[in-house]
Amino acid sequence: MHKIDIDTVEMTLDVMKYAVSRITNTRPPLGAPKREEELKELVGETVTAEGIGGEKAFRIFRDILVKATVPIDHPRHLAFVPAAPTRAAVLFDLVTSAASIHGAYWMEGAGGIFCENVAIKWLISLTGMPQGAFGVFTSGGTAANLSAMVTAREHWRKIKGRENQKGIIITSSGAHSSIKAMAKVIDVDLILVDTEDLMTSESLMQKIKSLDQKQLERVFAVVATGGTTNAGIVDDLDGIADICSKEELWFHVDAAYGGGALVADSVRHLFNGIEKADSITIDPHKWLFSPYDCGTVLYRDPALAKEAHEQEGSYLEITKDPGAHGFNPADYQIQLTRRLRGLPLWFSLATHGTDKYKWAVERGISLAQLAGKIISQRPELELVRPPSLSIVLFRRIGWTEEDYKSWTYKNHREGLALVTPTRWKQKGQNETVVRFCFINPDTTEEDITIILDSMK
Ligand SMILES: *Cc1c(COP(=O)(O)O)cnc(C)c1O
Repeated sequence: MHKIDIDTVEMTLDVMKYAVSRITNTRPPLGAPKREEELKELVGETVTAEGIGGEKAFRIFRDILVKATVPIDHPRHLAFVPAAPTRAAVLFDLVTSAASIHGAYWMEGAGGIFCENVAIKWLISLTGMPQGAFGVFTSGGTAANLSAMVTAREHWRKIKGRENQKGIIITSSGAHSSIKAMAKVIDVDLILVDTEDLMTSESLMQKIKSLDQKQLERVFAVVATGGTTNAGIVDDLDGIADICSKEELWFHVDAAYGGGALVADSVRHLFNGIEKADSITIDPHKWLFSPYDCGTVLYRDPALAKEAHEQEGSYLEITKDPGAHGFNPADYQIQLTRRLRGLPLWFSLATHGTDKYKWAVERGISLAQLAGKIISQRPELELVRPPSLSIVLFRRIGWTEEDYKSWTYKNHREGLALVTPTRWKQKGQNETVVRFCFINPDTTEEDITIILDSMK
């Protein structure tokens, strides 16, 4: 199994051939899921005592299974938050695997961690956080939010002497679902500022004032969103930062999706105040063109993260020895063993330069503006709100929830596009609408019109 023989060589060629043809294909077929029983029928037993051989296993994957998946970089995949990893980043993901580096400790991963750290410094510079701020790559926004909130909670317990008290986090109803999930994991209560639009400093202050003394004692953090996943809305970060500083609350900005827009001059002002955050989440696998999975958590004071996350164990002691000294990513987030998932971003940044990133993110924003313009010219369509960052919400006049759903399924089935409905709550009404999220700079005006034509 670990031998190098002719089968290994053939497998290598197969894999390389596939990789090259896939990454040079800008319009791969838009796959769709099949039921598990159907797939089983098509594929048969793949894991057996003797093995079915690499050639056959690869053929099954390439000819059957991959066709039951959606290529996230398809130019007409505008659902959820799509992705469009650069070719350089994808290729370097292969290199990252081939290089077999342990990314937890400097002792083993120095050269690779060095690269990750260069990319982290660039992200820090985009945020404008002060000297000393630093961060690490995580598996995604969920892990980044969780790591940041564990840090905040541990810090609060320590300085306020609240060892056994259950904490409270204030966030808005526009915050991502992972905030609720994270609160469950660390057993804190969430209090929501109820708004589908931006959380303002006034609405936050009002919420704080509505709490009783017991609750106030338990509040330790505010999570603002830098680009809501549903609508691309950026909270009033500057105003919220000031309240957090006055009330001595940890200020976390979840910019998992929107963080990429920090590089875009046209919208950078929306993020003013982010530099005052205690911690920030940015997902390079969303709008910074990295392959999955790649998130980051950035800290104003990384020492607090280290206090919360550093793992102790006799087998780990050597990694803390001065002889092995260096930056240990394992100390700043919840994961120990980790791949160097920041390497593809570093390589792509080094290859293309940061100006290209600026261009590619601006492209997503202009596509959203363009879609907004076309939508407002069509009598059967109506914008729900002006496009924000790269997200557009609109309605098809006269359609019911069922119409939206069957339209989504039909387009997907026919391989035309993957666009999904969402809900928009306004004045107590919970309406089904359509949502576009642009990431891929290869999406064209024609793609947009083809999708809109399918709604006539
Ligand atoms: C996507 C997203 C997350 C979750 O990130 P994952 O990488 O999917 O774990 C968190 N917050 C926001 C605002 C997001 O858009």
